[in-house]
Amino acid sequence: LEHLKEFDKDIYEAIKNEEERQNDKIELIASENFTSEAVMEAMGSKLTNKYAEGYPNKRYYGGCEFVDIVENIARDRMKELFGAEHVNVQPHSGSQANMGVYFAILEPGDKVLGMNLTHGGHLTHGSPVNFSGKLYNFVSYGVGSDGYLDYTELEKIAIKEQPKMIVAGASAYSRVIDFSKFRAICDKVGAYLMVDMAHIAGLVAAGVHPNPVPYADFVTTTTHKTLRGPRGGAILCKEKYAKLIDKSIFPGIQGGPLCHVIAAKGVCFKEAMSEDFKKYMKQVLKNAETLSVELKKRGFNILSGGTDNHLVLVDLRNKEITGKDAERLLDEIGITVNKNTIPFEPLSPFVTSGIRMGTPAVTTRGFVQEDIVEIADIISWAIDNALNDLTPAKDRVKRLCEKKKLYK
Ligand code: PLP
Repeated sequence: LEHLKEFDKDIYEAIKNEEERQNDKIELIASENFTSEAVMEAMGSKLTNKYAEGYPNKRYYGGCEFVDIVENIARDRMKELFGAEHVNVQPHSGSQANMGVYFAILEPGDKVLGMNLTHGGHLTHGSPVNFSGKLYNFVSYGVGSDGYLDYTELEKIAIKEQPKMIVAGASAYSRVIDFSKFRAICDKVGAYLMVDMAHIAGLVAAGVHPNPVPYADFVTTTTHKTLRGPRGGAILCKEKYAKLIDKSIFPGIQGGPLCHVIAAKGVCFKEAMSEDFKKYMKQVLKNAETLSVELKKRGFNILSGGTDNHLVLVDLRNKEITGKDAERLLDEIGITVNKNTIPFEPLSPFVTSGIRMGTPAVTTRGFVQEDIVEIADIISWAIDNALNDLTPAKDRVKRLCEKKKLYK
């Protein structure tokens, strides 16, 4: 970063401090990951200089011959990776991808079913403070008392409400989602099925979670979570919706695509096709399972009793600490997590009764089961000793980070 260092010390220093934070802390935020240098290089490339409104061979600007190659490669790889008939790799984010689908097939006021936010749904699945909840008539479904999606209740709600679309997918749900059940319910009530696989896209790519593509009319995703690519979004759909989706993204809701990010998405899809990525994803699952089992051994309540994916959701009520305080406490010792609502949450979303943890980032760092046992023990010790001197926990975190450095 020598040019930046020379020209803009303030930004340079903040970036260096962030690098240090990533190196010196244990990253358990479930939606984060560390991209490869190859992805970073594509993202930081001169493609950022190019305007390319439109799609390959149908641009509104000259000079697009090379960014056309890049976008075509990214599209072809993504189609192959997920077995999709059509993809759009231009959405700037997961939220834009969801907006792209909604704008393509819904009218303001239309009824949509989405997962209850406190049960694990995302902001764009109908939150009243988000465009989705403001523009559309979202009705929510959720999990039962066992923490698993309640498909019987979902079917009842769908029959009663007759939605135009059902949105499946979540930000905080640690069990396998049965897309065939969603499809059957959609068919029964004549609704479109959209699956937001943002969290599990990497698992789907590696074949360790069922693929929603054969079942859904539309699949949306981010590329920066388990998929380990650049920050961005994408839409996958059947060929019959291709034109509708492409028009919805451009010119519907976006202008010029981020060509440098599309290049990085292409690199990430290539990485996700590799055997190494499959191994990585299997280790992510083993690590999540270990975290869940080890926390349970130490008296923590895990939502739904465990995990099938990269997530571990903890109900902290028996530990007499809120999600907000646990997040702050763990941050103090060098473990980064986020507070999270639990189903039927009694506290405000700014406080919450739970925390969400995930293993994609620590697994990229090289942590394996024995490291995760140590992390679970540190978390448990810190929460039990919240009012004591936390130095022993800080030292243990430091030792783990030294053992497996993220950046050499
Ligand atoms: N969908 C789900 C399920 C998510 O968890 C997220 C992000 O957390 C998004 C969509 C939105 O992605 P972005 O933050 O890129 O807008």
